[in-house]
Amino acid sequence: MKLDGFCHCGTVTFQLDSKHPYPFNKCYCSVCRKTQGGNGYAINLSGNFNSIDITGRENLTVYRVRFEDGTDSPSERSFCAKCGSELWVRDPRWSELVPPFASSVNTQLPTPPEFTHLMLESKATWVGVHENPSDKRFANTPISPSRIGTNDLDCRNKDGK
Ligand SMILES: [Zn+2]
Ligand SMILES: [Zn+2]
Repeated sequence: MKLDGFCHCGTVTFQLDSKHPYPFNKCYCSVCRKTQGGNGYAINLSGNFNSIDITGRENLTVYRVRFEDGTDSPSERSFCAKCGSELWVRDPRWSELVPPFASSVNTQLPTPPEFTHLMLESKATWVGVHENPSDKRFANTPISPSRIGTNDLDCRNKDGK
């Protein structure tokens, strides 16, 4: 499915192909909560890096999480430098993926048949988990990229930054 997206001010626009255009991953980690989630979590979906076409690239800025040991995460979270909209995550370890955040996508997305709730051990106390019986729940995050599909690789628990 071809997806169109843009930041709130419209300076950065993009198109990409998504094999699984269901925004099913909800991540409650401290990074997603602060940078993305007014609701206390971020929602993203799969995106094929080879297909991405970006306009306004010069207005992108990248945030890399600094871990407790002082190293920077290889994951890059891309934002519009003008309006601050977070657009997608990129990680060289999974070079074929560029998971966009659902909030940056303008194409009408299908309703996910089920959700995956990730990093629940890091969930803020004020965040409610609205789940269906078929949903999958993880205290942390599953390791395999094929299993989690699109999760951010820099997601941190509440003891991290
Ligand atoms: Zn913008
Ligand atoms: Zn996260």
